[in-house]
Amino acid sequence: MAVLMDGRIMAAQLMEGLKERVNVLKEKGVGVGLAVILVGEDPASQVYVRNKGKACEELGIHSETIRLPEETSQQALEALIDQLNQDDRIDGILVQLPLPRHLNEAQALRKIIPEKDVDGFHIENAGKLFTGQQGVVACTPKGIMHMLKEAKVPLSGRHAVVIGRSNIVGKPIAMLLLDENCTVTICHSRTQDLPGHTRQADILVAAVGRAGFVTADMVKPGAAVVDVGINRVNGKVVGDVDFEAVEKVAGYISPVPGGVGKMTIGMLMENTIEAAERKAK
Ligand code: NDP
Repeated sequence: MAVLMDGRIMAAQLMEGLKERVNVLKEKGVGVGLAVILVGEDPASQVYVRNKGKACEELGIHSETIRLPEETSQQALEALIDQLNQDDRIDGILVQLPLPRHLNEAQALRKIIPEKDVDGFHIENAGKLFTGQQGVVACTPKGIMHMLKEAKVPLSGRHAVVIGRSNIVGKPIAMLLLDENCTVTICHSRTQDLPGHTRQADILVAAVGRAGFVTADMVKPGAAVVDVGINRVNGKVVGDVDFEAVEKVAGYISPVPGGVGKMTIGMLMENTIEAAERKAK
């Protein structure tokens, strides 16, 4: 039976440490603030935004959620970002994705000054990650690395296979695994013989967005399986991995819910606190 990489327990420990960092800043008279912009009524986004607000509250971080109507213009969205860029109480700005179709996501994200880009999606931060410079690292990949390290999964020299090549999960997690001296394979929808690749993985990261996509026969015995997927099936949230079957083969496994999602929020908090610590310096 696989060791459970429990995001709830790991995130709770992380939050304890983060609370202390917020208190240290407060003693110096430095507040920490996060602004979340939510455009439209996407139900999943509403849940994510609420959870981010709750985490801020738990840590004593000032949080503002700015809700804009579905029909908001690009100009109005960018004007709001500009205003938050200049607001000293705000250390982190997050635009909840996806944005309504008529809005240009990449252009909006570029408006956030890189120092306040706590999601790590700005081209400057993404570029720093890809060129080995210090910048803000995207929360989900950063959270996955934290999880693997907490679970003491051996990384150096091991073969990591990532399924998915998105800018927010697949590509950055591949870079972070490479930084830890893994040999990395990135798979996607055009990959031939996907199971042939995944069966070679010592570390398998599934970021596809399809329930039950990774089956037990795709997993090397003893592998660490990280499930990033969030899928809704009959009102239930499930990952990309057939958990019940895969946990019998894998050496380590992360559940959904209570896995990577918890780490993602923890890392968002950490990125926001780090931004405030930079400001304090
Ligand atoms: P995208 O839809 O942007 O990317 C999905 C990737 O999966 C693509 O690269 C796609 O390949 C690949 N893919 C699709 N079908 C197949 C297939 N049959 N075989 C191999 N690869 C395939 O999703 P994201 O990266 O944004 O998110 C992935 C999942 O993770 C989603 O469920 C999302 O909700 C979840 N997520 C969870 C987070 C968390 O905090 N836990 C945070 C962010 C995302 P191609 O490029 O060729 O189309």
